[in-house]
Amino acid sequence: MIELVNVSKQYDKTKSLHQISFTVEQGEVIGIVGKSGSGKSTLLRLLNLMETPTEGTIKLNGVDVQSLSKKELRQQQQKIGMIFQHHNLLENLRVYQNVALPLRLQKKKNPKKINDLLDFVGMSHKADSYPVKLSGGERQRVSIARALSRDPHLLLCDEATSSLDEENTESVVRLLHKTHEE
Ligand code: ADP
Ligand code: MG
Repeated sequence: MIELVNVSKQYDKTKSLHQISFTVEQGEVIGIVGKSGSGKSTLLRLLNLMETPTEGTIKLNGVDVQSLSKKELRQQQQKIGMIFQHHNLLENLRVYQNVALPLRLQKKKNPKKINDLLDFVGMSHKADSYPVKLSGGERQRVSIARALSRDPHLLLCDEATSSLDEENTESVVRLLHKTHEE
């Protein structure tokens, strides 16, 4: 469960978030809607523990994230998957290597898991391709596989379909539904 109480975030002079409070229950899917500059990405950076609030508290499963040590914070971050508007795949790595990267950084190897993930997102046939050869929707599918590689408890999407056409948007949204179900 995620719980925010009176969370504000101020950068220099700009107050990006002003006293936000909400909870998200286990298994719940929520969407954050707001115009450009309203603070959606800022909120996600607080939720993925990359930044800390100026005021208020954020609790993950009842634990105040401010009370976590650096090591505990890193452990929590590894349980959070993130997908961005512009997929940030590494262009010099093949699809398979991109998906395997988060585990490799933990000095882990699990080829079966990587292959299962590629299968899950329908990208097995492009495992050896470089990102430049993929469509926008295919890149997002690979990003989703990569975000799932550490079995996240929480998956954050920052405008994951904003740069896609209708058809690709539909396929990515369908995949996100399937991810949630499974
Ligand atoms: P959204 O994702 O909804 O478009 P953002 O969260 O990116 O909005 O931005 C919200 C506000 O916070 C904007 O006014 C933006 O300029 C400001 N902002 C975001 N990140 C920073 C930063 N690192 N430093 C200073 N101001 C920032
Ligand atoms: Mg944004």
